[in-house]
Amino acid sequence: MDVEVKNMFLETLWQMILRPRCSMCERFAAGAFCLDCHHQLESCRLSTPIIWVDHKPLLAWGRYQGPLKQALAHLKYDRRPQVGQFLGQKLGVAWLDVKSDRRDLVVVPIPLHHQRERARGYNQSALLAESFCHVTGLALAINRLVRVRDTAAQFSLSPRERFTNVAQAFRLGAYFNSSVCRKSVVLVDDIYTTGATIHSAAETLSQAGIQIYGIAVVAKA
Ligand SMILES: [Zn+2]
Repeated sequence: MDVEVKNMFLETLWQMILRPRCSMCERFAAGAFCLDCHHQLESCRLSTPIIWVDHKPLLAWGRYQGPLKQALAHLKYDRRPQVGQFLGQKLGVAWLDVKSDRRDLVVVPIPLHHQRERARGYNQSALLAESFCHVTGLALAINRLVRVRDTAAQFSLSPRERFTNVAQAFRLGAYFNSSVCRKSVVLVDDIYTTGATIHSAAETLSQAGIQIYGIAVVAKA
C-alpha cells in the first residue's frame, strides 16, 4: 500500500475510534447525544421547572420518563459520565433562567456510599453538580456530606419505607468548615421521587446550622 494512502487509512481509522458515540443509540455524535436523542430528551423538559417543597424551591429540569429515564440509567449503570456532564449543563442553564440572582450559594451533591461509588466509578450527582457549577458560577462543595450507610435501592420501596431507609444515612464531611457554613446550600441530585433522600441530607445539614436554600435535580418523578 502506498505510504500516503496508508496514512490516510490510519487517520480515518483513528478518527472513527476517537469520534464519540451517542450515549443513547450508539450512533456517531458530536457530543454526548446525537441530534435525534437530544430532541427526544428535550421533549421530557418541564415547562414549569420550579415547585415548592417545605417552603424551598425545587428546580427539576425534566420529567422522569422515557428518554430522560433511559439517559439517567446509562449514567448510573453503564459508566457514561458524559451523560452527567451534559445533563448538569442543562440543569445549570435552567437555574440561570429562573434563579440567577443569588451568587452566594454553595452546591452540595448528594453523596453515594463509598463502596457504591467505587463500584460505579463515580458519583453521578457530583458529576451533575460539577457541570451545574461550571455553568452557574456557584461554588462546588464536594465531600461536605458523607453517606455513612449503604442504603437499599429506593425504587423497590413504598414511600414510607423510603424515608425509613435513608433516615440518618448522612453525616457532615470533615471539610465543612466555618466559612462554608455561613453560606446557604443548594442540594443537587439526579432524581427526585418522594424526596426522602434529599430530606435526610437536608436534615443533617440543618442540624449543623447550615441553611438549605433550594434543591436542583435533573428529573422529577
Ligand atoms: Zn442517539
